Amino acid sequence: MRVLVTGGAGFIGSHYVRTMLAGGYPGYEQARVTVLDKLTYAGNRDNIPVGHPRLDLVQGDVCDRALLQDLLPGHDAVVHFAAESHVDRSLASADAFVRTNVLGTQILLDACLAAEVARVVHVSTDEVYGSIETGSWTEEWPLLPNSPYAASKAASDLIARAYWRTHGLNLSITRCSNNFGPYQHPEKLIPLFITNLLEGRQVPLYGDGSNVREWLHVDDHSRAIQLVLTRGRAGEIYNVGGGNEQTNLAVTERLLKLCGADHSAIRHVADRKGHDLRYSLDETKIREELGYAPRIDFEEGLADTVAWYRDNVHWWKASKEQARAEGATDE
Ligand code: NAD
Repeated sequence: MRVLVTGGAGFIGSHYVRTMLAGGYPGYEQARVTVLDKLTYAGNRDNIPVGHPRLDLVQGDVCDRALLQDLLPGHDAVVHFAAESHVDRSLASADAFVRTNVLGTQILLDACLAAEVARVVHVSTDEVYGSIETGSWTEEWPLLPNSPYAASKAASDLIARAYWRTHGLNLSITRCSNNFGPYQHPEKLIPLFITNLLEGRQVPLYGDGSNVREWLHVDDHSRAIQLVLTRGRAGEIYNVGGGNEQTNLAVTERLLKLCGADHSAIRHVADRKGHDLRYSLDETKIREELGYAPRIDFEEGLADTVAWYRDNVHWWKASKEQARAEGATDE
């Protein structure tokens, strides 16, 4: 079994790769993994066990058609994580988002067809649905993305579905809520706030902090992706939720407590343009069809995450300096 993981040096992709190589996915204990990653500012080779006998790291771009045509033959499955993923960066400039997320997905899927890859999972996000005041989105909900990031992911979902419908590619799509856990780039809300607090700095909270996000530990997300890879149906979309709905203010208050800070560490900043108020997924389908249920309790997972950032200052310091120099903030 050979699995190609795009974006496998990023936050979620690397968790998936580390877990697979550690034998965490039944039936895949001996799988060989190829990570294809451009190693942008968000990718880090230290996130994966380079040198592991069943791992190959290829630095390359999902938009590089010739590279993909060379690389893909011989792989049984592709899990597509590679993307530009930070909403705030997409507000400043959407070029790289459209290029990597839309064009990159199309070029990758062309190569999957040519290499007759037997199974593909396209990893997407709840943000494609837009914002919901009450209730929760099922997979049938219309796509109403609000940020350029979310719009580029929605476009990639439609391309992916079309490759199943038109060409018969054996592909499923996952749409997950906000992830947290170790190895997340310090530009995103939870690691940004943790690392600021560990440095004795304030945390920039958008608006009044009333925006609601559904938080899921990266390990639960990765396990759901593996379930979809092995047992999901072709052409189907699976929401991956079941996390914990929290306002940004409530998350901030928990982080203050875990880091031994008080409310004076909060700095309210002007709200993000077009900031979605609330995300909420109905994950009945993946629960009933594939038996998925999240395992990691939000509060325990958050405490473990804070402990990881406290113990791994060397990992985040350089990225944080770079992000700060580029003026990036939030989730
Ligand atoms: P990330 O930014 O941490 O990692 C993205 C990875 O993709 C990086 O390693 C980067 O180097 C690589 N990459 C970027 N452009 C590339 C290109 N052109 N070619 C090859 N590699 C490239 O992102 P993440 O948080 O790990 O998200 C992974 C996927 O999961 C994304 O598709 C994202 O939309 C989706 N997702 C993320 C979340 C979340 O909360 N983080 C939630 C739901 C879905």
